[in-house]
Amino acid sequence: MRTQEIASTIAPDLIALRRELHQIPELGMSLPLTQQAVVDALKGLDLEVTLGKSLSSVVAVLRGRGGAGSSAATGAGGGRPVVLLRGDMDALPVTEDLSLDFVSRHEGLMHACGHDLHVAGLVGAARILHELRDELEGDAVFMFQPGEEGPGGAKPMIDEGLLEAAGRRVDAAYALHVYSSEHPLGMWFGRPGPLMAAADEIKVRVVGEGGHGSQPFRAKDPIPVACEIVVALQTLVTRQFNVFDPVVITVGKFAGGTKDNIIPDDAVFEATVRSLSEVARAEVARKIELLSTQLAEAHGLTAEVEYLPGYPVTVNDDAEYAFAKDTIIDLFGADRYTHQRDPEMGSEDFSFVGQLVPSAYVNLSACPAADFDAAPDNHSPRADFDDSVVPDGAALLAELALRRLAQLNAGSPSS
Ligand SMILES: [Zn+2]
Repeated sequence: MRTQEIASTIAPDLIALRRELHQIPELGMSLPLTQQAVVDALKGLDLEVTLGKSLSSVVAVLRGRGGAGSSAATGAGGGRPVVLLRGDMDALPVTEDLSLDFVSRHEGLMHACGHDLHVAGLVGAARILHELRDELEGDAVFMFQPGEEGPGGAKPMIDEGLLEAAGRRVDAAYALHVYSSEHPLGMWFGRPGPLMAAADEIKVRVVGEGGHGSQPFRAKDPIPVACEIVVALQTLVTRQFNVFDPVVITVGKFAGGTKDNIIPDDAVFEATVRSLSEVARAEVARKIELLSTQLAEAHGLTAEVEYLPGYPVTVNDDAEYAFAKDTIIDLFGADRYTHQRDPEMGSEDFSFVGQLVPSAYVNLSACPAADFDAAPDNHSPRADFDDSVVPDGAALLAELALRRLAQLNAGSPSS
């Protein structure tokens, strides 16, 4: 394929960019050095580049010249289709424990989730499509996103007009993620439907009345009540939710009291709540509140429940996923694709895009080790990513945009 040929020509540049980014990992929503590196890498391409206002995002629009009613003739592109390609850019507060000659120069920070490969891959896709823009039958929006690891850059980018960046609404969106373990190098994997969980947080405060530990009947002890709620939450999960629409509640923090013989006024705990459907997500939020407040009330105490919504469920649109999978097999061969049986209970804020636009998210192994099962996972200080897969990522994203725009331009709703 032309996309792959161009990808292999520009591979040295893309790998050099990845290694440059790897040395300057930045955290969260403000990634000034990374943003500048992206802007520099896109220089010389005929793109409309917009920088984020509330975060250091980069949005670039490429106007295709292919097909009937090309952008060249109609200016902003008339009613022509638009696809979005996304790469997240942020790193993690991890101290790198790898001996690379391009190891992190920012103390305590590391590209331990491979987002440096995503940025290089997306720059590659922009360069490939720029070269093929006479065949591009619509416009491509390149989304360089901060804050995927938190607090979430996709939502503010959408609020700042991401999905209308080309002057028309995005019709389809694609993203990929690299893995440092679990599959052999170069293997693509994924699944249609739910791919990653919604991740919300609850904070519960059980309010009683402090007193002397020797006379609990004269106080209202919040500790056993908070303990009872924590245990009851696990019963709630198994008795009130369908095992085929799973929910995970993990209490990761529990605090109350100061000394063995003092009953405190209150006890608090915090939990992460994961779900794989918006139905289960809404139900678990409602039921946690009900269970906490009523269990406290049964003991003559009260409970205050704070529910903090995080990222939604990442759902692969069936048709878009089938299209992405077919494109992978067409480009790389059937032995480079494997079906992912189960979703993951991790989360991803590309889900905010997926809620608004039919989308597909695929995974790619960048594991350099032959024993991929034993290799350190993403987020480990020893997570190692083989950047020889960056050109493959670039080629796939470019190919998805080329093919999907041609389909959409021909009036096909999906593949
Ligand atoms: Zn990641």
